Amino acid sequence: MDNLYLTNTVYENERNRIILYFSKNPFSTKSEYVEKEKFFPEINIDLPKDFLQKILSDFRKKINIEKIKENLCKITSKNYKILQQCAKILSLATSKNILLIEPERQFLIKRNWSYYDVFVQVNRNKINKIRDYDVTNKAIKEYLTNIDDFSKKKITPTITRRLMLSNLLKVKPEYNIKNDEILNILFENNFFENRLVLKNKSTIDFSKKNELIKNTINMDFSNIWAYLLQDDFYNISYETINCNCCKPKELFSTNTLSSSLVEVMFLNNGTYFLSKNKEWSRNYHKNNSCKENRDNYKKTNGLREYPVGPFFKNQKEQILLFDAVRLLEEKEITLTYNNNNISWFCEKKESFVSKLIHFIKNKLNQIETSINLSTYANYSKNINSLELENNTNFIIYITQYKLLTDLLEEIPKFMLHRNTKFYDPEIEKAIKSIKLETINKINTDNCRLIEQTEKISTKSIGFVNKVNSYFIKINLPIPKLITN
Ligand SMILES: [Zn+2]
Repeated sequence: MDNLYLTNTVYENERNRIILYFSKNPFSTKSEYVEKEKFFPEINIDLPKDFLQKILSDFRKKINIEKIKENLCKITSKNYKILQQCAKILSLATSKNILLIEPERQFLIKRNWSYYDVFVQVNRNKINKIRDYDVTNKAIKEYLTNIDDFSKKKITPTITRRLMLSNLLKVKPEYNIKNDEILNILFENNFFENRLVLKNKSTIDFSKKNELIKNTINMDFSNIWAYLLQDDFYNISYETINCNCCKPKELFSTNTLSSSLVEVMFLNNGTYFLSKNKEWSRNYHKNNSCKENRDNYKKTNGLREYPVGPFFKNQKEQILLFDAVRLLEEKEITLTYNNNNISWFCEKKESFVSKLIHFIKNKLNQIETSINLSTYANYSKNINSLELENNTNFIIYITQYKLLTDLLEEIPKFMLHRNTKFYDPEIEKAIKSIKLETINKINTDNCRLIEQTEKISTKSIGFVNKVNSYFIKINLPIPKLITN
């Protein structure tokens, strides 16, 4: 039986239905099989049902509001335009960010289907998706069959990117996706699938400029952080942070984040300490009295950062768990076990971010194997590297590989970015604390490091060696050295 590709989907607003077009040729506008289905698009929102009924009373005959769980409702409508109006009203009235996805994509997310997925027709009215079939590669090659070698080399990266993204993101192939849209669409899909709601409207952020420092070794850690968000390590995502099922019973649980605030009592008079989190200590300095004392302490001791303090015997204060651990060892404090402000991650359910990273990692492994095979095949036939560069398979794999490694690196950056609709201060705190914790685990000799977003600069070769062996030990790639 012939394979069929999903080549197009169209939503008909007047008839409340989705039409799916399947074709034997992935690039044909002619279709061998068409499926029509009733579909009511939806939005999810974290507001109570009675409130929604009141505010959307004008539409009550055209929409359906259903309570999904505590503080989460689903609004569906037969008519997508009505749903758009509702989203607009709700967004204006409540200043909430509302995720509204076009009906075609909603349908595909719910089905777990996508463009260029491969299907077989089971009978006159039924079609089945073939799972885990390497879709895009076959489609790309079919596209390239009647093209001459010269154009093929030029066209392969473009067509590979277009097909792969269309398949991965479930957006129509004709839509030209810009690089900065990729993660936005991917996160939209996952938020929708998991019924996650967006936090309040994002704030404006001006990102800092990076500079490289002379005579130092500069390392870029951006290829590492994504891996640490997997459930093998910290399992950080919007639905797994401070989950309902895994709140730590004790302060020092494996899933407590070091960015948690704990109340401690100081045991000595005139205590100052240096927080490992420079951002936190800067904020402490800005927002607390005794600025002059800290100024003096900093000058007298030749410090680069402001200390935290001064504290007096029996004084209680909330500090980072990260610092508290060290101060406990040094017998400067005791824990009060009151007023703790703990953050944690889920230990039971893998997050969508973790699944996404695993998925990309697997794809990369597959491509790596394929690249090795195709290099080997060429090598053994004594074909030179120029011919390898002209090899269509090779160009497809390299294009896919580059796209996926970039995507992987972008994930934590995207989650930290304050200008996206997905921004969540809890996530920012968690990712930053993971970075800090990791660097401190490596920097046991307390070498001087200059940290600038993704880059860390140091004059110590010892630290660089430690970095390399640390990541190899936990089976992760090593940070990139930056040469300039
Ligand atoms: Zn949990």
